[in-house]
Amino acid sequence: MNIMVSTYLFNMKKIIIFSSAIVFAALAVFFALRGCSTQSIHELPMVTVYRSQSGQVEQMDLEEYIIGTVAAEMPASFESEALKAQAICARTYALRKLTEGKSYPHQADLSDNINTCQGYLSYEEFAGRHPHQSEQWWLNIQQAVEETRGQVILHDNQLIDALYHSTCGGQTASALEVFGQNIDYLQSVQCGYCQISKRYKTEQVLDWQDVVAVSGEGECVEVMATSSTGRIEQVKVNQKVMKGSEFRQAFGLPSTRCTVRMENQGINVISYGYGHGVGLCQYGAQGMALQGKNYQQILAHYYPGTRIYKIPY
Ligand SMILES: [Zn+2]
Repeated sequence: MNIMVSTYLFNMKKIIIFSSAIVFAALAVFFALRGCSTQSIHELPMVTVYRSQSGQVEQMDLEEYIIGTVAAEMPASFESEALKAQAICARTYALRKLTEGKSYPHQADLSDNINTCQGYLSYEEFAGRHPHQSEQWWLNIQQAVEETRGQVILHDNQLIDALYHSTCGGQTASALEVFGQNIDYLQSVQCGYCQISKRYKTEQVLDWQDVVAVSGEGECVEVMATSSTGRIEQVKVNQKVMKGSEFRQAFGLPSTRCTVRMENQGINVISYGYGHGVGLCQYGAQGMALQGKNYQQILAHYYPGTRIYKIPY
C-alpha cells in the first residue's frame, strides 16, 4: 500500500470514527467540486463572496467570512456568548448554502445580499459604521468566532437551516406558521429575553391616505386569521384581502405579530418584535447572555432538539 492511499484510509477512518458522516459527505462534495482531495476536509474551506455594491467577488477563508457576517448581522456591542451563538448560526447557514451548491452572481459561493444569503462587512466597512468602538468590537467578534471555530448546528446529523431574526417580541414563530413548512427544530418557543430590544413593542399609525393608495377606497381594517403565536395570517384592508406577510411588506411593518385598530387618522398598529420571528431571536440571545447563559444554552433554547458539532479543521 503506498503512502498516499494509507494516509487517505487513515483519514477516512478518523472521519468515520470522529465525525458526522453526513456533514463530511456534504463537505466532501463541496471540496470535490473544487477539485480538492478528500484530505482537504481537514483544511479550512476557502469561499468566494459576491459583494453587491462593488459587483466584485472576494475570496477569503470561511472563518474570516464568519467574522464579517457576525459584524453585519448582530449589534457588535452584544455579549460574547450572544456573538458566539450568532457565529455558529452564520457558519451553519453558510455551510448549508455551500453544500446545497447554490450559486450567486459570477458563480460566487456566497453573497452579502441579505435577501438571498447573509450580510457581510469588511473591517473597513465596519469601522465606517462604528468609528469610535470599531477596534474593540471587531476584536470581540473575532474572539467569538475563534472560540467557536468550526462549530455548526446539526439535527438528525444534518446541518440545520439556521434562521435567525432581530426580535421575536415574546414568542418565536414556527417555520410552519411563517413558511408553511413544519421543521422539527424550528418550532415556536417562549422568549422572555428580548424586552431589551427597542423593537420589542412599537406603535405607529398608518394614515388612511397611505392605506387607500395600497388597498383602495374605504376606512376599514379587519384581521381575518391569526396564528397560534398571534401573528396576522390574513387581514382585510378596505377591499383588499392580504396575507400577513403582504400586509407587513406593503406598510413596512416591523413584524406580523401585531394588533390593529381603526382610528380617525388611520390604522393604529401595535407590533411586537422585528423580523420573521423564526429560529434564533438575536435580542433574546443577548438577554440570555446577560442572564449568564452560555452559547450552548442559547442555541438549545431557540433550536430545540439540535446539537453542536465541531468540524475538525
Ligand atoms: Zn425574543
